[in-house]
Amino acid sequence: MSATLIDGKAFAATIRSKVADHVARLKKEQDLTPGLAVILVGEDPASQVYVRSKGKQTTEVGMTSFEHKLAADTSEAELLALIQHLNANPEVHGILVQLPLPDHMDEDLVINAIDPAKDVDGFHISNVGLLGTGQKSMVPCTPLGCLMMLRNHHGSLSGMNAVVIGRSNIVGKPMAQLLLGDSCTVTVAHSRTKDLAEVVRRADIVVAAVGRPEMVPGDWIQPGATVIDVGINRIEAPEKGEGKTRLVGDCHYASCAEVAGAITPVPGGVGPMTIACLLANTLTAACRANGLPEPDGLTA
Ligand code: NAD
Repeated sequence: MSATLIDGKAFAATIRSKVADHVARLKKEQDLTPGLAVILVGEDPASQVYVRSKGKQTTEVGMTSFEHKLAADTSEAELLALIQHLNANPEVHGILVQLPLPDHMDEDLVINAIDPAKDVDGFHISNVGLLGTGQKSMVPCTPLGCLMMLRNHHGSLSGMNAVVIGRSNIVGKPMAQLLLGDSCTVTVAHSRTKDLAEVVRRADIVVAAVGRPEMVPGDWIQPGATVIDVGINRIEAPEKGEGKTRLVGDCHYASCAEVAGAITPVPGGVGPMTIACLLANTLTAACRANGLPEPDGLTA
């Protein structure tokens, strides 16, 4: 294996500690405690785990966590009323609605009801537009985490060829915008892309956000390229015993690591950075709401 491991778990810990230091200063000097409200509708087990983890990490960095757990049959009107209430609460600087929502709710309507200044997921249509036009916005956490890891590893990304595989609104498209903002030449590949292997081979930076276990093999990777694997896929792992499973990314780690210059593992790569960036966004939102300088190095 030749690639340098980009340790997202360790990097996320440094981000959290930067956030915690800044929060401590805000409390002492401004009597300000950043607050993050997380809304969970229903009992989806994976979402419950994410929400618990977000709440725990929020309090660990010294912020206030407001958790709102609503029954699966909550009406859309009740959810919108809660969002309005949180929009108006000055102690709440960030609002996150855990997705997916139950089928009877209109996700776009709900997300666009959040005050854009408190939209720490960066999914509100205003933030999407601001990011697309290179203006100050709230940036979606997963692509922000990928960008931070790339900047930390390379310094400048200017002039690099980047290929983003996947064009979702939450990962692929904002990732492409961020890489453009850092002056990469960006290609967005997707399910209809012809000769994906050839497209990926041109990349100095590959960001894979597809959701297909180990679909990118090492022989698609240009020697020395940096591979950021966003995918989180659970597959059967009979070698660990009957019925056991394990997590893999969208890239075939062993073969990609043979040729890449640097690579993120799954788990322990992009995943931990996502929640760290949620905390960073909440801190940024609290500073902006109070006319205070933003923390260095925690935004795009
Ligand atoms: P999505 O399903 O919304 O989008 C997948 C994209 O992949 C689509 O744009 C589609 O065009 C593309 N695609 C599908 N098949 C393809 C193929 N054969 N070749 C090329 N492109 C193809 O998924 P998403 O929400 O963007 O998530 C992608 C992956 O990232 C999932 O595994 C998800 O679990 C993971 N994810 C991880 C984090 C994290 O914190 N690490 C956050 C969000 C998503």
